[in-house]
Formats: sequence, C-alpha cells, structure tokens
Amino acid sequence: MAVKKILTIDKYEKQLRTKTEPVKKITKELKQLFQDIKDTIEANPAVGLAAPQIGVMKRIFGVRLGYKDDQPENEDMQPPIILINPEILEEAPEVERGWDACLSIPGMMGYTERNLKIRVRYMDEDGKTQEREFEGFDARAVQHEIDHLNGVLFTDRLANLGDLYVYVKDAKGKRKPVPYPEAVRRAAEATDGAVPVIPALPSSKK
Ligand code: ZN
Repeated sequence: MAVKKILTIDKYEKQLRTKTEPVKKITKELKQLFQDIKDTIEANPAVGLAAPQIGVMKRIFGVRLGYKDDQPENEDMQPPIILINPEILEEAPEVERGWDACLSIPGMMGYTERNLKIRVRYMDEDGKTQEREFEGFDARAVQHEIDHLNGVLFTDRLANLGDLYVYVKDAKGKRKPVPYPEAVRRAAEATDGAVPVIPALPSSKK
C-alpha cells in the first residue's frame, strides 16, 4: 500500500504536459505501480489518476466507474480499474457539457465539453487486450485521463476563462466555486479600491 505524492501544475507543469510512453510488457514493478495508482485514488479520494500525475511517464491510468453527481458520498462507486495503452476506437458525435476537476490542479474546477460515448481498446493489468464502451460521466473521466497521457489538462479544453471556477470560502467558511474572473475582481475589491500590488516578474533571459 503506497499513496503517492501528486504532481501539481504550480511546480510540475512541464512534466504534466509531456506525452507518455506506451507499456510493452507487464512487469513486477508495473504491478506495484498499478497498486500505487489505486491506493492514491482511494486515499484522496478521486475519480481517476494517470501515471504522469505521480511522475511515471507511461500510458497507464486508473479510474473508478459509476460516479454520480447526486451521490456526494459516492458510496456506490466501484473500486478503481487500470487501463494501459488506451486507444479511443470510436466516439459518438454527441458532446455533453459537464464539470472537470483534477488532483494536479487543486482548488479549481471547470466546465468542458466531452464526447458522451466512447469505445476504447486497452490492456488490462493482466496484460489482456480489452474493448469497452464508456458513457456519460464514465466516458468523461476516461477522456480526462487519456488527455493526461498526451500532456493535455482540462484547462486546455475550456471555451473561455469564465468556465473556470476557483474555490473560495464564503462568510461562513464554506468552500464555493466562483468563476475565475469574478474571483479576481473580488480579490481586487478586497484591497479597498487600492490598485492591487502586482509583483514584478523576474527579468527573463532568452
Ligand atoms: Zn486530472
């Protein structure tokens, strides 16, 4: 059992934006990695986690299927499954607008459009080739994780900054998502109309 440290964009953006390498063979070390991914998903808890988020640049991710927005506790969620070298074979033309969030982008969420239904070929953790159809939120989660393997983050899929939300504490200390532009405006107002102090950027040498 090993819960791994999550790489976040503030320090590891370059790595999170790097394309990962396919897996050739299931080794003992990889089996340990599969367990680490599952442990890290359950400990956070999260819907999914891709290997590059814990610093392993391979085409592997874990996902828990069956997430439902109306079950905040998500007690009915299935245990994580591992998908290796996933390949989208087909995607239905219908897209759905829904929410996206990521352990590597803490304190934020956003609304993105993703395909409602996809068919994926992948290798399971025993090295067997599988084909499976994912729909609704499952399809959304699988697309989010496949994006990670290609160095793509959900923020790349926002139509505009108004679709990005920042969690801000309200007067009662409860965390609420506030659109990013509004959070910036509020932060500016909190300085009593004074011009917010913007730190000078270090001079760049190119
Ligand atoms: Zn993510």
